[in-house]
Amino acid sequence: MQPPKPAPRDGDPVDALELLSGAAADPVELSSGSASPRGAPRGAVAGLSAPIHAPAGPRWRCLDCGYPIIESLEPTCSECGRRWERGVLERWASGAEDARLERAAWFVLAALFAHLFALPMFLTVARIASACFLFAACQTALVGRQDSIGGYLAISGMAAAALMIVPFAWMGNALPYYTLHLVATSALVLAMLHDPVASVVGRSLGGRQIAPFVLFGAPVLATVCYVLDAVEAAPAVTIPVGGSSYDYAPFSFILPYLVALGGGVFAWQTLVAARKRLCGPPEE
Ligand SMILES: [Zn+2]
Repeated sequence: MQPPKPAPRDGDPVDALELLSGAAADPVELSSGSASPRGAPRGAVAGLSAPIHAPAGPRWRCLDCGYPIIESLEPTCSECGRRWERGVLERWASGAEDARLERAAWFVLAALFAHLFALPMFLTVARIASACFLFAACQTALVGRQDSIGGYLAISGMAAAALMIVPFAWMGNALPYYTLHLVATSALVLAMLHDPVASVVGRSLGGRQIAPFVLFGAPVLATVCYVLDAVEAAPAVTIPVGGSSYDYAPFSFILPYLVALGGGVFAWQTLVAARKRLCGPPEE
């Protein structure tokens, strides 16, 4: 019969680690004479042919700064100090959020591609296609996040994308459409970087810091463009394309169009960076 396991002694890290990891059921005799010399790597205790423990390498990534976190009962980032719930880290490490970020980034890229077809004869179809891709991206962000801040942001993005299709894709004045484009892409970024349990993630990402300013700056920019368009009565800009030339209003088309394009590139770049920093395999 095996003798009962003695209680862990203060200052005996090997015993404490064994108990924590559940390895106590298979005790290895450690007489006082086999104590590990200071500085020896864990799991390579002198005098034992087999290691007690394989070294516990990093298993998760901090969802704020991407720093590797070693598996423990109360995982805490040694870089930024934020404490996480195991379940949250395990879910982000499972590949589900990685796949979600990848899908959303592809939808944004498709929306950007459609956005480029800005000639008058393609414009309505291109706007509808771009809005549909943004709607799909925001819907991707919503799955599993209902009733959380991230879910509300995703619904806001979906509502903006739906408004882009009806009625604004058909309207002559492009300002509302491209303002909603900016709202949808920034809401998408914020939704993707919210966890239902851990709230905000990816705080160290530049895009995560900028996205709120883009979201709240969109109506301000729209107001400025609207006022400039009404007051200045700026002449249309003629752009020659393949033997023909097309007139575009500077403040109700060109500026909002370019800002929306920039917003789309920003969202895509942030999603790609988030995927790389928060979901990639932790480095040693
Ligand atoms: Zn961290």
